[in-house]
Amino acid sequence: MKQISDYFGAYVFNDEVMQQRLPKDVYRKLKATMDQGSALDLCIANVVANAMKDWAVELGATHYTHWFQPMTGITAEKHESFINPKDRSHVILEFSGKELIKGEPDASSFPNGGLRATFEARGYTMWDPTSYAFIKDHTLCIPTAFCSYDGSALDKKTPLLRSMEVINTQAMRIIHLFPDEGITHVSTTVGTEQEYFLVDKKLYEQRPDLILTGRTLFGAMPTRGQEMEDHYFGMISPRVSAFMKDVDEELWKLGIFAKTEHKEVAPAQFELAPVFTTSNIAADQNQLTMEILQKVADRHGFACLLHEKPFEGINGSGKHNNWSLTTDNGINLLEPGKTPEKNARFLLFLSAIIKGVDEYQGLLRVSVASAGNDHRLGANEAPPAVISMFLGEDLEAILTAIEQGSTYENTHEQSMTIGGGVLPDVLKDTTDRNRTSPFAFTGNKFEFRMLGSSLSVSCPNYILNTVVAEELSLFADELEGSKELEKDLYALIQKTIREHKRIIFNGNGYTNEWLEEAKRRGLLNLPTTADAIPYYITANNIALFTKHGIFNEAELMARDAILYETYYKKLNIEAQTMVRMVAQDILPIVYSYEEQLLQLQAMKQTMLAKSEVHPLIKKLDQLSTKLYQANDSLQQHLHQCDSDDMKVMAMYFKDTILPIMDTLRSYVDQLEEIVPKNAWPYPDYFDLLYHL
Ligand code: ADP
Ligand code: MG
Repeated sequence: MKQISDYFGAYVFNDEVMQQRLPKDVYRKLKATMDQGSALDLCIANVVANAMKDWAVELGATHYTHWFQPMTGITAEKHESFINPKDRSHVILEFSGKELIKGEPDASSFPNGGLRATFEARGYTMWDPTSYAFIKDHTLCIPTAFCSYDGSALDKKTPLLRSMEVINTQAMRIIHLFPDEGITHVSTTVGTEQEYFLVDKKLYEQRPDLILTGRTLFGAMPTRGQEMEDHYFGMISPRVSAFMKDVDEELWKLGIFAKTEHKEVAPAQFELAPVFTTSNIAADQNQLTMEILQKVADRHGFACLLHEKPFEGINGSGKHNNWSLTTDNGINLLEPGKTPEKNARFLLFLSAIIKGVDEYQGLLRVSVASAGNDHRLGANEAPPAVISMFLGEDLEAILTAIEQGSTYENTHEQSMTIGGGVLPDVLKDTTDRNRTSPFAFTGNKFEFRMLGSSLSVSCPNYILNTVVAEELSLFADELEGSKELEKDLYALIQKTIREHKRIIFNGNGYTNEWLEEAKRRGLLNLPTTADAIPYYITANNIALFTKHGIFNEAELMARDAILYETYYKKLNIEAQTMVRMVAQDILPIVYSYEEQLLQLQAMKQTMLAKSEVHPLIKKLDQLSTKLYQANDSLQQHLHQCDSDDMKVMAMYFKDTILPIMDTLRSYVDQLEEIVPKNAWPYPDYFDLLYHL
């Protein structure tokens, strides 16, 4: 039997391979580029490229590609073979440093929000040496950033890399306020918990809505949903188990530490969590994980659904983004320490995060906004659309004591003065797990729980990094040069808690009382994507992004336009698909069933000479008429709005189209319950959810 250790990372051009295959000085220079971002000259790149090619070819690769993450939220690749003609009948395999460093895909058809007119189709992909190259589908994949001719970011990786640099700079200023511990670099770390559904592929293929939109646009609830709460952590069927084993192997070969897998709350729902790593690598790995889940599912006769809400009435899928800050010598800055200085440092970082989350609620909400996620947030299965933070009882008690300048008594009955920065070491054990909080402290990291399952984690992370970097920079401005650091620091923390404690909420986020309370506290409640997007390019946020060099104004405007465009286009596809399904499949079947019943009644009438219409026929007739009218209305309304302004389109879809879609669906779902199962044109929820 093959051992995991034999093939873990076998398809990754990692440190070990580099050390084996690169001359010592080349390896050293490459490492300096990877760790400190120093420039790499072409001679070095040539050596690296050649070694990469030899390694890849030995493992069966024939092509290479610059692998990037355009603003579509998924990955893109354009394959080139290594082949070059040597003479008329021979080839040599070549891969140069230039080809490694820079690519020029024809980029005109990726969304750019107006950043690059199509006649200037040129976009560049630039090697990101901080994320390892890997082999996938016989192709050497080079992780790259994607930008336009003038250097504008056209992807999701560039801002993430920029934000990591910025938070490093600002966090180091804070670190330097304290006694030297040999820290030279701070990285953000991310661990993603990915939820998904599996359905049988043959059934999936019979549902145009699943194929075209990723979710069921119609479907009556089965008689058993998730009320028994017996699916969570339940036994995994042999077929799913074989699938998971295969997924693990594929991920391990790519050096992804897939670690936990279990069933989720809903039937047919599962979760996969890897071990955390540096943010940009975590983002790359999560993209790969989503891709591999789908590919391997296909091999096992499943379809893997990554949509946030594939089934109405059944829990949707999210992606928890566990986030922390780690130093180059392995210190987790969100680990509450045992000594006063470390506690003070921890409390300072914590305060920066609290302030950032409060001041930039709108921005954090936009970072997870999508048409799909609108079905989850606030639907009693996922955090509400209101951002708040959970800190746990202990930490909140400590902050309250600091705020009031009083003495903190912890659950272990030690009482201590906070002024000296002493923090008892009990936080981790007593941190209560609050599943309803959008942004929860879980002992030594924050868990951002609002992300939808299909989202690229890049956007929420570059936003989080930038926001925290901003607060750290303001703190550093205030504390650098302080004559009485301890006193000033304490005052700063106290002030921050006083001004921003409204964002802290340890209770149940699913209740209506919380929404009322949140309103009183002045917290934002932005239920839909269309409501949230206006918070993206407020003057305050433009100032934030430009100050730290994450985006210039044009780049921001482009992203804003793309958010609106993607939102309305998704809804448009859904609405068009509904219209077709109703007109071509559902109505004809309903009419023919009605026809059958009428014939039956006519037969019975001759026998029984009754003149009444059967109530079932009446019901069918009423519903089918309403359905026809609603479908007609949807079709007409889809033609009625045509604007070049993406915001106008988004608002029209939210206010006008979505309500008609909901009405249409309710008629179809009522009909599904009375039309014979074998006549219904699609597999129903029972078939889809209970056949694994
Ligand atoms: P849960 O109970 O929510 O499933 P786990 O303890 O299993 O939480 O961890 C969830 C994720 O958090 C994992 O992917 C794990 O690697 C990640 N994680 C743990 N520590 C950190 C950290 N310091 N930074 C980022 N992610 C982390
Ligand atoms: Mg979690």
